[in-house]
Amino acid sequence: MSDYFRFADSLGPEKIVHIYEPALQLKAIVVIDNTAAGCAIGGIRMALNGSVEECSRLARAMTFKNALAGLPHGGGKSIILADPSMPAAEKEQIVRAFAVAIRDLAEYVPGPDMGLDETAMAWVKSEIGRASGLPRAIGGIPLDEIGATGYGLCVAAEAAQEFAGFTLEGARIVIQGFGAVGRHAAQFFAKKKARLVGVSDSKGAIADPDGLDISRLLSIKGQGGSIIDYNPAKIIRPDDLIAIACEIWIPAARPDVLTENNVVALRTKLVLQGANIPATAQAEHRMGELGILNVPDILANAGGVITAAVEYRGGTEHSAFDLIQRNITANTHAVLAAARAENILPRQAAINIAQRRIESAMALRRWHL
Ligand code: NAD
Repeated sequence: MSDYFRFADSLGPEKIVHIYEPALQLKAIVVIDNTAAGCAIGGIRMALNGSVEECSRLARAMTFKNALAGLPHGGGKSIILADPSMPAAEKEQIVRAFAVAIRDLAEYVPGPDMGLDETAMAWVKSEIGRASGLPRAIGGIPLDEIGATGYGLCVAAEAAQEFAGFTLEGARIVIQGFGAVGRHAAQFFAKKKARLVGVSDSKGAIADPDGLDISRLLSIKGQGGSIIDYNPAKIIRPDDLIAIACEIWIPAARPDVLTENNVVALRTKLVLQGANIPATAQAEHRMGELGILNVPDILANAGGVITAAVEYRGGTEHSAFDLIQRNITANTHAVLAAARAENILPRQAAINIAQRRIESAMALRRWHL
């Protein structure tokens, strides 16, 4: 029993809920980390693998991300343990059943995450009356369709370039994962005249030092193909993506892909964390020693939560993009300047700012959380 408290620290988590519905073989985990500033906003991930530990780390990342972005929300996360490529009707049934199971967790407002999209959020909303990242047709700002997180990554890179010693124009970019985050990031960086020199998806990886044609990649993915169908492609081993010479390396797929063992192979100036928790703590320390600037997930990929918060208050797509621009620019400067001045890692600098805000919100509560 006490094992469940192994994640407990001064901020949370407030609740860890296991959900099991034998009739549908629905298995899910919900972690509501901290709601001192307001209801917890955080995605539902559908994946075959996932653990309480991973869910707790992701929920904490959402607590910090919301606080750092100055949003009146706490952090939460859920994982439905299932194959996201299951038939659509089955997926709808599982997601609706999950929604019903979290009906009474009123302090948790779910959003989309890996394996689920805005349509799935519409199913959740229709069951329990709350969800973020909704389709336009029901008043949402579809954050994956508009590329809110990819846009935020580009804003963060623009603010970080002076700290990392390169300019975006002509910069070489490598992106691991070409889904909602990765493909939009590629397009926003192309508008800044940066070039994509390496990319991967779950099927494989390709590289071209002269630059890959993003519109062709998008069209291949749009037809259900993989980036390895790109022609002519120099197919590389997925593990070799890390060693491509570039200015910006963007993880935009799975957790813990950067470890203390593989970051030594990086040949980049900046790691921009599109994915959530893509690097272990040891990997981040090693990157610091290697002189690679690392803009952490809780700062770099906040475009999604900022959009979700704007949508939750009935705001527009335009105001979401405006807030992402102002907010991520200011926070990237503040975090990287503090990291430099205090000689600490950017993640620690970001956490310090976020934690001060969370603690001041907790101090206003009777029982802190
Ligand atoms: P997605 O499901 O749309 O795309 C994931 C991509 O990663 C796909 O192209 C998939 O093929 C690829 N992929 C999966 N396993 C891979 C592997 N082992 N190697 C290389 N590529 C692999 O998901 P998404 O919404 O783009 O989210 C990606 C990451 O970004 C997740 O960590 C998510 O939590 C995080 N994130 C997403 C948002 C958002 O707005 N969608 C916001 C913040 C953070």
